[in-house]
Amino acid sequence: MGQDKKVAFYTLGCKLNAYDTEWYREQFAGQGYLEVPFGEPADVTVVNTCTVTGGGDAQSRQALRRAHRISPEGTVVAVGCYAQTDPDALALMPEVDLVVGTAEKTQLLDLVNDTCSLGRTFVTRSRTAEFQDMDIYNFGGRARAFVKLQEGCNEFCSFCIIPFARGKSRSRTVDSTVSQVKRLVDAGYQEVVLTGVHIGDYGTDLDGYELLDVLEAVEVVDGLERFRVSSIEATFITDPMIDFMASSSKFCRHLHIPLQSGDDAILEVMRRPYRRDQYIELVEKLVDKMPDLGVGGDVMVGFPGETEAAFQNTYELIEQHPMVYLHVFPYSPRKGTPAAKMAGQVDPPEKKRRGAELRALGKRKVEAFQRRFLGQTLDVLFENRRADGLLQGLTGNYIRVLSPGSARDQVVAVRLDHIEGDRVIGELIPNPSMQMLV
Ligand code: SF4
Repeated sequence: MGQDKKVAFYTLGCKLNAYDTEWYREQFAGQGYLEVPFGEPADVTVVNTCTVTGGGDAQSRQALRRAHRISPEGTVVAVGCYAQTDPDALALMPEVDLVVGTAEKTQLLDLVNDTCSLGRTFVTRSRTAEFQDMDIYNFGGRARAFVKLQEGCNEFCSFCIIPFARGKSRSRTVDSTVSQVKRLVDAGYQEVVLTGVHIGDYGTDLDGYELLDVLEAVEVVDGLERFRVSSIEATFITDPMIDFMASSSKFCRHLHIPLQSGDDAILEVMRRPYRRDQYIELVEKLVDKMPDLGVGGDVMVGFPGETEAAFQNTYELIEQHPMVYLHVFPYSPRKGTPAAKMAGQVDPPEKKRRGAELRALGKRKVEAFQRRFLGQTLDVLFENRRADGLLQGLTGNYIRVLSPGSARDQVVAVRLDHIEGDRVIGELIPNPSMQMLV
């Protein structure tokens, strides 16, 4: 069907979208399509959209328009979260030929072939209750591979559109997750990142299983050097999980735990299931158990009703407790979420000011954490080579390291030497003797 046809992909958003696109890639290749980079003319262009912020919608529309400009005779496909939450808006775009929602994404190729043969716009809009096993065999030439083991979310935080886009929480079985990890290890991957929308909720739809079961099963996969979890909600990190992480020889000492706000009144209207003291207690306990742990988190500024005092509560929590990096997001109203209708919307310039203050704080925290490890030998997985010829990679505890050398795609020992800008310059250790930090 796809012989001599060209396909291009453009992916926005999160690790789950990156994983889904990997699966689409392999499906098209399996039908004989030749993949070309986005920007080159193609018979089919798939844009994997994002709607987590207003910016995600705008960038998705931009990519769809660009796809049509590049390939005016080609078929332009919108898939992903924006395609699920607002299919009609996308279907109204003259540039778009096919809109595929979350449920039908595993039939993407058939829908594309139908669209190509029938030559008219298709829109799908149903939901799915089951986890769709989308097995992959590679991860697009990257050094670290993502493994999606959970989809959807049942939490409905008041600012979040994701439950509407990805549906209810559902899990991949432990066996299927382990076989996916094995396939990637067989393909040469030394690190996998376990990912999902809300992986702490893993197993609630599987009788008697929880996230710890997967972590323990992945730990014993032969040939896997190390693994991490992409993000996990505070209230889903249990004591047995912490004990496992602290004793594991492969679990990376890195946790991304969304905070969103450090103010209890704001956490309440966000419908977040914890309060600032619980978050502080958790982070302190984690670092007490694993002193070299790199803890970071998402923080939102400018949520409706956030006063200067509430913002200062967030700032002080981060300043005074062992968070070592931040992902800072300005609140973005999402149609259909309760927060979008709330009073007390914060002015964009004020959001910008608060965001800048938090990013500056985050930068200081990153540097302080980097300084703690100068002179030490840590394991680094080098992911790419920069234009200046230096390899770039990550330690297990999420320190970004640059180094001369040729050890790409491998976990190697690196002595952290000095800081340049926001990166640590390291030196490859040919025959590491000492016990390295995971
Ligand atoms: S936990 Fe909250 S913020 Fe996270 S995906 Fe679910 S609804 Fe969104």
